[in-house]
This record gives sequence, structure tokens and C-alpha cells, in this order.
Amino acid sequence: MNPYIQYMYSYPHKTAYRSLSGVSLKDYAPLLRGSGHGLYLHIPFCQAKCGYCNLFSVTGQKEEKIERYLDTVERQSQQYQSLLAPYQTEFSELVIGGGTPLLLSEWQLLRMFALLEKYFTFQKGRELIIETAPNQTDAKRLSILKQAKVTRVSMGIQSFSDQELRVLGRQHSAQRAREALALLKSYHFPCINVDFIYGIPGQSTEGLLASLKEALTYKPDEIFLYPLYIRHGVRMQRQLFEGKEMVLEPEAALIQYREARDYLCAEGYRQDSMRRFVKGRAKRGYTECGMGTSLALGCGGRSYLGNLHFCTPYGVTQKDCLRQLEDYEHTIDFGKITHGICLTSEELSRRWVIRHLLIRPGLEMKRYQEQFGTQAEEDFPILMQWKEEKYLKEVLEGTRRYLTLTEKGMELSDYLGPQLISAKVDKLMKEWGAAYERTDTSISGQSKKL
Ligand code: SF4
Repeated sequence: MNPYIQYMYSYPHKTAYRSLSGVSLKDYAPLLRGSGHGLYLHIPFCQAKCGYCNLFSVTGQKEEKIERYLDTVERQSQQYQSLLAPYQTEFSELVIGGGTPLLLSEWQLLRMFALLEKYFTFQKGRELIIETAPNQTDAKRLSILKQAKVTRVSMGIQSFSDQELRVLGRQHSAQRAREALALLKSYHFPCINVDFIYGIPGQSTEGLLASLKEALTYKPDEIFLYPLYIRHGVRMQRQLFEGKEMVLEPEAALIQYREARDYLCAEGYRQDSMRRFVKGRAKRGYTECGMGTSLALGCGGRSYLGNLHFCTPYGVTQKDCLRQLEDYEHTIDFGKITHGICLTSEELSRRWVIRHLLIRPGLEMKRYQEQFGTQAEEDFPILMQWKEEKYLKEVLEGTRRYLTLTEKGMELSDYLGPQLISAKVDKLMKEWGAAYERTDTSISGQSKKL
């Protein structure tokens, strides 16, 4: 059994989205009434594309291009402000992701924070989460984040081995990561998260543990541990696998995962999901990503408004992402939703199960029933099978009964989760993959050379 089928970060995946017509944000805006919503801003610019990256980001863009992007974000914000005005929307969380948000110049960062404050209202005590990379983390930018009252900074370190960083195609050195993390720590943000990767070609379990051990000397509040996936269109796919998607040596990756998990838990980190380890009571800044109502700004970010999920069409390569950016800049009416998916109630319950089951404390049975009027185990009989197979267990916390992943189930999150994908969504995703392979000549062209 391959434990690494798919990361169920959200459901459905963007590759299941299609063109939409006649959908207007105005009709969904009442869902953003009052407080408690999320706002996301996507900054799709990076210094260079990492070898494994399938996120929406472009490289080599001049300052003027980024400036034009901010102009468009401002125009979109203005339109959203008018749409939301009747509903007194207050956001409890602002997430700025990418890409590499701190690639922006200092004054662009100041402009970005100022425009968000100008067009949107935030609740008192709101979370403000931002991603960074070691090469873009400096004192001036961190002072701007401090001034903006950022509550959580997430830094993609991935490894403290220069050799592994080279294989991943990361731009920073291990030494640069050390300096950046030390500097970040000195600013005392309420929550600091660091990301690491396992399953890197040539990485040993000892090498992974050495990176984690070093990371712990900086006492991060959270550690995310990602298995290396090689997906459609990423550079490593073309270089190493002649177009096939895979996790390298799944058995070796699983051994690394187990060792790393045991190590982090022994060091006092609590495991909340297959990837997330948190220290003590650290909760700040964590988002259940898309389980609530969330509105996205920029190109590549997605919005979740009830049964409507939408974003710009999914792109991975520089060419595809640049084309989307062009379209974004030329959008006149941001209230017109042209790409996404409208979920049926069956898909919404599926999404609920996927999103809750893979994160501790798990799926609360009564809450599911209140939400959908039915029993989760009756709607999804596979859950009973997983209980018998000891992937799931029932736990009581106070009066709440949860269906929770066992240790064995947790390490198989990327194998179990995909089994909950509906046949319809699976078909849409496969169609996207097939169409991508047909049209992406660069894959066949380059793989032959390497
Ligand atoms: S992994 Fe992060 S830093 Fe690397 S190219 Fe992708 S978005 Fe940019």
C-alpha cells in the first residue's frame, strides 16, 4: 500500500473547478454578514521556482509588475468593499500567502497593509498570518510586520542541509536559514511556524532528524512536516520522472515520518495532523483552512462562500501563471465569478468529513448530525470499515464524541483521505490531469533530454 496518494489540503481540489457562468458574488455576499470571516491575499511572486512547487507563483517579475498587481488588488478591494457594505462584514483572520509575500519591497509591503486596512474591517484581536522565506526575511521587513501586528509568521526552511536544499531547488543556504530564523525569533511574534520536508532524494532519516533537532534549538511554536510530492508540471517531475507523479520511495518516507513524529512528540510537540506539530497550547494563527467563510483577494487565492468555491484557473508553470495574471489585471468586474465549483449538499458533507477527520480532535459526531441531519457513519459506511481496521477510534472529550484517527490512521492520512473523494470530483480531477498532459509539451520535450 502506498501511504502517499494525495494531500487533502482542501476538498474539492482546484483541478475539479471549471468555468462558471451567471454566478455573481453579490448573491453570496450575505454569507459574509457580521463577524468571524477569513480574508486571504495571495502574493504570487517568488525569487525562483522551487523544484517541487505546484503553487500559483511566478518568478523574475520587475518591481513595476508587482506594483501593477497591487493596483489590481486595490481595485478588487474597492469593489469588494462596496459589495460587502450592506453586511457590516468584519474579518477575524487575515492570511497573506504566496508565493513569497516578503519579496515585496518595503514600501510595497506598507502599501499592501495600508490598503487592506483601508478597504476592510477587522475584528479586535484578529489573527494576521504571513508566509516568508529565509532570503526575504530581514530586519526592515520584520519591523513592518511587527508594526502591522502580525500574529503568526510561517517560514519555509525545508532542511538545514545544503545538499538537500539544492535537490529541492531552494534558493537559500542552510546558513541563511539559521540567520533568518534567529532574526525572526528576536521579534517575538506570538506564533512562529517552520516548514520541513522529508522524502527528499538522498535524504537519510538521520539527516531529517538533524534538521529537526536544529530547528528545535529555535523553539518554534509549530512545525509542519511535509512529505515531498512531485506533482503535475513541477520542475522535479520533468527532471526526474519523465512526467509521472509520485512520492519518492514511499517506504523510506514512511520510516522517516515515524522517526520524526516520535522525536517531535518526545520533545513535547502535540500532533494535530499528519503534518502539523504544535508546542504546548499553541493554537494561535491556526486556520481550519476553508471550513468557514473566506474571501480571497489577488490571483491564485480561493474563496469559500457556502457551497461556492472559486478562484482563478489553476496554473503551475510560469507560462500558465503569467497568463492568469494578465487576465487578472484586465478583469473589470470582480463581482462576476467565472471559475470555480458549486457543491451539492452531498459534496458539502463529504468536505466536512474530510476536513475534520484528518485533523485532531477529529469528526464530532453530534456536530455532523446537527449540520446535515444524518449520521456520518451512515452517510459514509467506509468510516465503520476504518474503525474495524483500527484506522479510526471513538473518543469522548467531555460530552463530545469524536471519530479520531489512530496513530496508524494518522500516518495513512494521504491514503485514507483520497478514498473519500466522490466519483464525480475524481472524474473532474482526472480529466484535468489528462488534458494537462496532452497540452504540456514541455514535459515530454524536456524529459527526453534529461
Ligand atoms: S515552494 Fe514557496 S517559495 Fe518555492 S516557488 Fe513555491 S511558493 Fe515560491
